[in-house]
Amino acid sequence: MAIATPYSEKTDEQKAITEMVRQFADEQIIPNAEHYDHEDEFPEPIVEQMKELGLFGVTIPEEYGGMELDLTTYAMIVEELSRGWISISGIVNTHFIGSYLLLKFGTEEQKQKYLPKMATGEMRAAFSLSEPELGSDVAAIKTSAKKIDEEHYEINGTKMWVTNGLLSSLVFVLVRTDPNAERKHRGLTCFIAEKEPGVAENTGEYAGFNVPPKIKKMGYKGVESTELVFDGYRCPAANILGGEDAGLNKGFAQMMDALELGRVNVAARGVGLAQRALELALRYAQERRTFGKPIAQHQAIQFKLADMATQVEAARLLTMRAARLKDAGARSDIEAGMAKLFASEAARLCAEECLRIHGGYGYSKEYEIERLYRDAPLLLIGEGTSEIQRMVIGRKLLERHKI
Ligand SMILES: Cc1cc2nc3c(=O)[nH]c(=O)nc-3n(C[C@H](O)[C@H](O)[C@H](O)COP(=O)(O)OP(=O)(O)OC[C@H]3O[C@@H](n4cnc5c(N)ncnc54)[C@H](O)[C@@H]3O)c2cc1C
Repeated sequence: MAIATPYSEKTDEQKAITEMVRQFADEQIIPNAEHYDHEDEFPEPIVEQMKELGLFGVTIPEEYGGMELDLTTYAMIVEELSRGWISISGIVNTHFIGSYLLLKFGTEEQKQKYLPKMATGEMRAAFSLSEPELGSDVAAIKTSAKKIDEEHYEINGTKMWVTNGLLSSLVFVLVRTDPNAERKHRGLTCFIAEKEPGVAENTGEYAGFNVPPKIKKMGYKGVESTELVFDGYRCPAANILGGEDAGLNKGFAQMMDALELGRVNVAARGVGLAQRALELALRYAQERRTFGKPIAQHQAIQFKLADMATQVEAARLLTMRAARLKDAGARSDIEAGMAKLFASEAARLCAEECLRIHGGYGYSKEYEIERLYRDAPLLLIGEGTSEIQRMVIGRKLLERHKI
């Protein structure tokens, strides 16, 4: 059911792929999301089908086995997956950030080693900045890596809120390598930390990399969020992103670059969730009757629908614009921040208005909107909160318009 007219400037390839993913969401994700959400269970059968569809290699070049599509097409795919359930897009999103980091900063050896297995989904990636005592203030990272011999660093410390923390095989983890750096963010390095997927206490070459039980959350269920405890974990120097010579103490800039992309990614998730809330609201408003007529005939309800549809359209346009600018190689830091800020707030607003339109039933687990209402707030937090987006937009605006 297409409600708000989807942004129509799509190439034939984009139309074909988004229609395919929409059908996948309608047939495989939406009918099963309630079960996995209520049980907080990893949706393994859905993920297996995503592997077959090639969805883990969307942006990975063909030479490494991927589809080599651009960010704009990727954002369209993420919107469709998130319209189904944002936990499904969460399984792909950190993986996408990992593959972007490898493509942009990795050595050829690192690309050859990981990208082909990432393209098929055989290896999945997580990324880890946050710690128990910090999230927004990335430069304050405490987890550290110290060189212990010619070829190894030892990582110690605790990371927090790692999406796909248990089931991933690779974690792009940002840690402190120079405690004396004059500017704190200059002393951080991104390591590609390998582990056994699904194993809580790693042994052998991955000993010292432990994953505590998953964090219990209000929403965004199914996909696990975990702490990661590094306790004497030996990581090869060769696993510094970009190699030791080029990558040591360069991790902050690498991660910030990836987060710009991540913001488009989260914006697309907001559009998908908001679109689904609008669809549910439009249907329910025409089914439910009060005072002798469908509630859709009351002006107060029509105004809600109008506001929701306007938010969805505006969020989609901002998201597509940020993605297109990035694809064109243009500067898009402000635009990515705006898209993330607006689309995540639009998702929250649409989820709440849809819940209100459902009246008491919106509060029941029998209705899909109850899940959307619990899922939406995550988008206000991950990849930088709304407050942080405003800080980034404000700072960059002043840089661009310096007098
Ligand atoms: C389900 C889930 C999944 C996540 N997945 C990942 C992941 O995969 N990898 C990862 O690294 N992290 C992940 N995160 C962490 C997420 O990125 C952080 O929660 C987020 O960056 C906010 O950090 P914080 O929670 O420490 O809040 P804080 O930084 O402590 O902020 C608390 C409040 O203060 C505000 N604030 C902070 N600084 C300022 C300021 N300078 N001015 C004004 N207001 C400010 C914030 O906006 C917020 O409202 C995830 C979080 C959740 C909930």
